[in-house]
Amino acid sequence: MRPLRSAAARPRTDPDELRDLHLRKLRAGLAEVLKTNAFWRSRLTEVRSWGDFERLPLTTKAELLADQASQPPYGTNLTFPLDRYVRLHQTSGSSGDHPLRWLDTAESWDWWVRIWSEHVYPAAGVRAGDRIFFAFSFGPFIGFWSAFDGAERRGALAISGGAMTSEQRVRTMLDLRATVLMSTPTYALRLAAVARGLGIDLESSEIRVTLHAGEPGASIPATRAAIESAYSAACFDHTGMTELGPTGFSCSQRDGIHAIESEFIFEVLDSAGRPALEGELVATNLGRWGMPLVRYRTGDRVRVSREPCSCGSPFLKLVGGIRGRVDDMFTVRGVNLYPSQVEDIVRAHPEVTEFVIEHRRVREMDEVSLLVEVTGEGPTDRLEADLRQALGVRLGCRVVPTGTLPRSELKSKRIVRVEE
Ligand SMILES: [Zn+2]
Repeated sequence: MRPLRSAAARPRTDPDELRDLHLRKLRAGLAEVLKTNAFWRSRLTEVRSWGDFERLPLTTKAELLADQASQPPYGTNLTFPLDRYVRLHQTSGSSGDHPLRWLDTAESWDWWVRIWSEHVYPAAGVRAGDRIFFAFSFGPFIGFWSAFDGAERRGALAISGGAMTSEQRVRTMLDLRATVLMSTPTYALRLAAVARGLGIDLESSEIRVTLHAGEPGASIPATRAAIESAYSAACFDHTGMTELGPTGFSCSQRDGIHAIESEFIFEVLDSAGRPALEGELVATNLGRWGMPLVRYRTGDRVRVSREPCSCGSPFLKLVGGIRGRVDDMFTVRGVNLYPSQVEDIVRAHPEVTEFVIEHRRVREMDEVSLLVEVTGEGPTDRLEADLRQALGVRLGCRVVPTGTLPRSELKSKRIVRVEE
């Protein structure tokens, strides 16, 4: 594996200076938004101080979906006339919701592309001259569209992997001597399995960096190790949301995600809505004024650290990345668990090729089991023992035939809830 970038140590941003920057950007943006944007006019008042900001209401995805349902197709969160917008994307709908539509102006798209070029790619050591392969369908889900434009901005060669089978993607990466792979972590592992089946050795490919989004896998140690070993490359994480923009990146320290505080206001709130070091991440974007979000509840559970990072980044760190979705928590015999904790154990078992956590509610009782696809005979005793050791509770495993669990190159759903 090649050495990772070592950045010169930079001083941390002064908290007062950061707050001043945030207030300045927010006040300038809201001045325009509050003139014309019906959604925010009905919710916000002018922000003069930090105290004013902290009194603004929180916003949820359910409210945005309800707004779009009542005023189709885009809802009322529009600062400009429709002809000012140049891009339309939508959420993947993987959580079972109706997709949320999101419009960008040329300025807000440029903001997103610049963050890739200035923050996310440099942190992963991606540079001009790299050849970046996007193993992604290029459908309406925003996925890697912004990363594709960001690659061009960075001076790299952006290679679309849309409308290809997994085998075609493996062969194209090799034929074009790609140096960077962009995909979800689950799909990177699937491509590696396809390559193995074809007798192709990806370890000797020119892939130097893999960069992932859509799922927390690249911050989960066992998943990251499995990807790094399959590609003999350094694996990096990126966080973002269709409705928010690109929020963070993993650094050379590899123990979390830096939240891009120059472009967002981040808050972490406990279940009572009070500021905390551990809780739900709430974000306000400061560069997407055509369809902005103020105090948006991401649904992501995080723990933050403001300790200086040896990579030199001035931004706060989400320790261990995004630990899970607030609504993905499940309980086994009184112990609260998140899918990422299970994934960290499962990915250390290379015989498991796919998995899903099945949460059944049978007559008011929770029954949780792990459905796995395995290569070869693969008894699950060792996996069950490791899960019990790590999680402190017994989680039964059931082997299902290969190909029966859902597969997606977008976000994989790791928990399936069944009511009986
Ligand atoms: Zn760092």
